[in-house]
Amino acid sequence: MNPNDVAAFQTTFLTWYDTNKRDLPWRQNHDPYLVWLSEVMLQQTQVQTVLPYFQRFTQALPNLTALAQVDETQLLKLWEGLGYYSRARNLKKAAQQLLADYDGQFPTTAAELENIIGIGPYTAGAIASIAFQQVVPAVDGNAYRVFSRLLADDFDISQSKARPHFAQVIQPLLPPQRPGDFNQAVMDLGASICTTKDPACLLCPIQAYCTSYQTGTQLDFPVKTKKIRQKKVQLIALVIQNAQGAYLLQQRPEQGLLGGLTTLPLVDLSDLDVTEQTLPQALQTYFAHNYNLALTQVQDLKLKPVVHVFTHLHWTIHLFGAKLGDPQADVAYFPGYFVPKARLGDQAQATLQKKLLKRADLSKK
Ligand code: SF4
Repeated sequence: MNPNDVAAFQTTFLTWYDTNKRDLPWRQNHDPYLVWLSEVMLQQTQVQTVLPYFQRFTQALPNLTALAQVDETQLLKLWEGLGYYSRARNLKKAAQQLLADYDGQFPTTAAELENIIGIGPYTAGAIASIAFQQVVPAVDGNAYRVFSRLLADDFDISQSKARPHFAQVIQPLLPPQRPGDFNQAVMDLGASICTTKDPACLLCPIQAYCTSYQTGTQLDFPVKTKKIRQKKVQLIALVIQNAQGAYLLQQRPEQGLLGGLTTLPLVDLSDLDVTEQTLPQALQTYFAHNYNLALTQVQDLKLKPVVHVFTHLHWTIHLFGAKLGDPQADVAYFPGYFVPKARLGDQAQATLQKKLLKRADLSKK
């Protein structure tokens, strides 16, 4: 952009923001705690989905001290359905870190904020600019889209250097008096007008400055060469009942996908040896060898498979039923426990577990 146009561009963009900004609860004041929570919740999640979570979360945990002391079960329950549960755990760890090492105060610069657990360059830029008026950009997918189009910048955003590149490009465009509002204007423009597939350029406040609009090349930006490859995985979810009719749940390991949450027991099909045995027999062998559990009546429930997609994974899950006939069946070697049907929904549940229970007709009515 021509340096002579920068001041007029900033004024135009901020005037639009003042009139059109979304009325969001974390924008009521510049409290860094609220800005931080909202930015973490908004990662991979739409604003409309986040709103009720944000309200519940901040009512239950209104400050760093409450968050640092919350017990895991309540924390995961508050986060239930938002996905990527490591974000919730990192929030708690970060709150403890801020209380222990920073006297309960957020650092005020992006560079220092990046030292806090779970805070990356984007969130650091958002907090520093919105809560502390530091003149730094907040570079996320919206910023890539808006500025690559505005400047017809063809830097490949799948490259690891894309973030520093765009941070450098955006920096001279930031208004020193209102960097936080500018970054939020970018978020709002990217969400409502400069959208991925169908930018509404005729409504765009910065159209007059937009190089890609002038050349009709909006959809050529941002440039992205590498596609995320999703690995396809076939799994089996088992509905296992004991002699008392209770159901076996598996506690996922703390680290990794769905960390710490409970699901029906899941087995990766590729971990089963079906060379000389049927699938039900292979499941019996697997549970006997790994967990010292003697499954009986293992059978395909013949239900439509449940599909669940993560950024890098595409799970297709087949449901099987089984019994643990021995009333003394001991699950000491299994990472989980039995719960009666009436309590199946009481645990913090991933969306996946809700889908599985629904498909198996075990949801609470
Ligand atoms: S004119 Fe179109 S492409 Fe350019 S910033 Fe506005 S919405 Fe995006």
